[in-house]
Amino acid sequence: MTADELKTFEDAIYAFVGREVCPPTPGADDVNSAMIRQWTEIIGDANPAYTDADWAARSARGRTIAPPAMMYVWGQEGYGAATGRQPTAQTELVDLFNAHGYTGVLGTNVRQEYVKEASPGDTVLTAMTIDNISERKTTGRGPGYFFETLATFTNQHGEVLGTQRFKVLKFIPNEQPAAATSEAKLEVPTRIASVRGHDNGWWWEAVDVGKVLIQRCRDCQTLRHPPRPMCGVCQSMEWDSIESALDGEVLSYTCVRHPAVPGYPKDPICAVIGLGEGTNLVANVVGCEYDDVFIGMKVKGKVEQVDEKTVLPQFYPV
Ligand SMILES: [Zn+2]
Repeated sequence: MTADELKTFEDAIYAFVGREVCPPTPGADDVNSAMIRQWTEIIGDANPAYTDADWAARSARGRTIAPPAMMYVWGQEGYGAATGRQPTAQTELVDLFNAHGYTGVLGTNVRQEYVKEASPGDTVLTAMTIDNISERKTTGRGPGYFFETLATFTNQHGEVLGTQRFKVLKFIPNEQPAAATSEAKLEVPTRIASVRGHDNGWWWEAVDVGKVLIQRCRDCQTLRHPPRPMCGVCQSMEWDSIESALDGEVLSYTCVRHPAVPGYPKDPICAVIGLGEGTNLVANVVGCEYDDVFIGMKVKGKVEQVDEKTVLPQFYPV
């Protein structure tokens, strides 16, 4: 791409900054206790403020609330929505990137801010704009641009409940097609690197040196995983960690066959491992075939170098 072509391309992408992706749109369902209960069960958040109506009636709020992190849930469109969707400024921007070779995509950051709580019966409306696009960056994945969408959540009174910023990297993938030339050296692809943020970077740094840590509330000693800033039991933000012995049991599992995931020699077996310490961990089961895995299978974890760049805990049949 010449300098002039680059300027034309950048003028075109930067023209998307500030454009509306969708106007304030109500979710398919109002805030409701069934979705709150299912979401908190999956997350493992037993805070009675969300699900215990009797407890909530005696609390300062006087009623249950939805977990603030559910803001984005209320506007989700469901499985049928992917077909026949109208183009938006966001899909147009993505198409423009793709047409210029920026076909790679990597979600890098989600940042939510909470302003006001919602309770069952409230309507959550989601509006979205393209908020900013970075200058051209050179990244480990290839050259590209970060763009950020800003979702603003309001209730039926027009009051802002919170915002969510979602940052995506659109990049020209470094990997060349293997068939490019007959003499091309096959570069062994590595696995997609872990995203290390403010709240979980420490956990990955421990994995790098061979340890799987479990975050522990310093006040009530409750263990939690994945890492997060606050104890779901006592709301303390003080924490330390213990090292897992990596004795585990398969609680649930699947095999990822399509689309192919880079860096795996064969279709990976992904499992929810219940650790002996009591928390769960998503990891690969290795050292056996998919057909040999079963729910309740005892496994032992090892932290291992799995490719040139990646260290991960993997679990073997005992
Ligand atoms: Zn606690």
